[in-house]
Amino acid sequence: MNLARFPRVRCGHFPTPLEPMENLTRHLGGPKLWIKRDDCTGLSSGGNKTRKLEFLMADALQRGADTIITQGATQSNHARQTAAIAAKLGLPCHILLEDRTGYADAAYNLNGNVLLDRLHGASVSRRPGGADMQAEMEALARDLAAKGRKPYVIPGGGSNPVGALGYVAAAQELVTQAYEQGLRIDCVVHATGSAGTQAGLVTGLVALNSGIPVLGIGVRAPKDRQEANVLKLAEATAAHLGRPGIVTSEHVVANCDYVGQGYGLPTQGMVEALKLVAKLEGILLDPVYSGKGMAGLIDLIGKKHFKPDDNVVFLHTGGSAGLFAYPDAFDLPGYTA
Ligand SMILES: *Cc1c(COP(=O)(O)O)cnc(C)c1O
Repeated sequence: MNLARFPRVRCGHFPTPLEPMENLTRHLGGPKLWIKRDDCTGLSSGGNKTRKLEFLMADALQRGADTIITQGATQSNHARQTAAIAAKLGLPCHILLEDRTGYADAAYNLNGNVLLDRLHGASVSRRPGGADMQAEMEALARDLAAKGRKPYVIPGGGSNPVGALGYVAAAQELVTQAYEQGLRIDCVVHATGSAGTQAGLVTGLVALNSGIPVLGIGVRAPKDRQEANVLKLAEATAAHLGRPGIVTSEHVVANCDYVGQGYGLPTQGMVEALKLVAKLEGILLDPVYSGKGMAGLIDLIGKKHFKPDDNVVFLHTGGSAGLFAYPDAFDLPGYTA
């Protein structure tokens, strides 16, 4: 793969570490668990959107854009990382936040990622749950264009074929790192939402003929819809890469049994998984994505989904800034306001 032919701004810290989780492995009695630290991508407390934004922002600059628009849920990590990279590149950033949870408390609406969006200088406006966020962004882009600006609209999660190139590059990084460490990876597991991470990873891993399967743990949509979204974007990403047709439905697997009541709503499994990894590994997961992803991984280990000597890599997609929006979710003895 020759990814250097796609424009990219370099803002993140790469390669991210690939480390064993010895304590969690021992606690669960195998398989051998590893963690790929994409929560450590550098900008603004890190996360998976930084890889996508390196390609998206280069595309924006190449097109002469002078203003960035994006959208997400109130506690969007994508919005926060977009605000940070726009700040770094000196571009004004407009963020539209959709109220997907209905939470009215101050922590959820003002702390965590929302605080960081504002610290990075983004303008933030809110939309009700269920709003057509793509249409809302396009309406804002028209208003700004009428005022002489050149806006660039980034879809939710940065998930389009340009953004997904970030995870094609991550696949290449991971395969190289595994070779250097003498590690045979049997499966990669991660939280999947707007689908760009899984689409890019799958496309890269297939293009490299790696034989490494990916399991996405869904955080919002049911399985059939999530797999269809990932496959569609992976097909478009493969075409953008110059390798149309390499990804097929057998490469795309999502398990959406760990969503609970809905996007951004805590589950008991998430709370337990997040506390366990915090206590055993000193690593912070997040309540919306990586906590549910880890809850799925732990449950599947209990159900003997993996072989005892498998090497399973959990891709940590970031999001711990969102913890500060959920201070009451963790049922900690003696922890009260
Ligand atoms: C956005 C996000 C995901 C999901 O990635 P997609 O590319 O949207 O599927 C997972 N974890 C965290 C922390 C995220 O912010």
